[in-house]
Amino acid sequence: MSSAPAPESTLPYPPLHKDKNFVVLSDWDGTITNYDSNDYLTDNLGFGKDKRREGNVEILSGRVTFRDAFREMLESVANNGHTFDECKDVLKKNIKLDPGFKDFYQYCKAHDIPVIIVSSGMAPLIRAVLSALIGDDEAQEIEIISNDVDVKPDGSWAIKYRHPTSGFGHDKSQAILPYRQLANPPTLFFFGDGVSDMSAARHADLLFVKVKPDSDNDLAAYCRRERIPHVEFGDFAHALGVVREVVEGRAGVAQVLARGKAE
Ligand SMILES: [Mg+2]
Repeated sequence: MSSAPAPESTLPYPPLHKDKNFVVLSDWDGTITNYDSNDYLTDNLGFGKDKRREGNVEILSGRVTFRDAFREMLESVANNGHTFDECKDVLKKNIKLDPGFKDFYQYCKAHDIPVIIVSSGMAPLIRAVLSALIGDDEAQEIEIISNDVDVKPDGSWAIKYRHPTSGFGHDKSQAILPYRQLANPPTLFFFGDGVSDMSAARHADLLFVKVKPDSDNDLAAYCRRERIPHVEFGDFAHALGVVREVVEGRAGVAQVLARGKAE
C-alpha cells in the first residue's frame, strides 16, 4: 500500500525521468517476452510446471508470499545442478520478444518516452536475453529495475532480492511511487501480465494487462477481481495504438480505461 513505509532497497535505482511527459514501465517476463523465463527454467530445469502452478495459485490467494514461493522455484533449478550460465544460454535460445515490442520501443524512443523494465527476475538474465533479441546497443539503453543474483565460487547461485523485507521480493510499486512526489509528474504507463505485477497494479496512471490465449493471465484475473481499472492487450502492436492515442492527445487516460481493451 502507498501509505506503508517503503522497504529498504539493497540495489540502486536509476534517476527519475523528471522532465518527461510520459514514462513507460514494463514487466519483462511474459510481457515484453513471449514466455516467462523463470517459468521456463522452473518447468524445464526445476521441479516442473504442476508444482510451479501450485505456487502461483498460493501467491494469488495470499497464502504465501511471492518472495518465498519464487525463491523455491529458482532453488529447484539450482538444486538440480544447473549453473547460472547454463540458464542464461537456455533462455537466450528459447525466449522470444513480443512481436510488437520493437516497433513500440522505436515509437517511444522517437517521442522521448523512456522505457524501463521493472522485473522480479534477475538483471544478468534479462540483459543477456535482451541483448540476444534486440542487439547490445539497444539493450544497453534500456534501464532495468529488477532483482539480482548471488553466484558463489562453487557455481551455486540464488536470487538476491531488491527488497528482502517485502513479501514481493521486489516491490514494483517502489519504481512508480517516487514519481507521485513530483510537482509535475509524467503520465506513467505500466505493462504487466502476472503475479509479480500485483504490487504495481494500483499505482500507474494507465495499467496495461497482457492477456494471452495459452497462458494463465494471473494479473488480468487479479485486476478483474479487485476491480482495478486497466486496459487488456494481446501484444505491443495493439498496446501501441492506445499509447499513441494518449500521447498524441486523441484520447484521455480515463477514456481508454473505460474502453478496457486494446483492439
Ligand atoms: Mg510477467
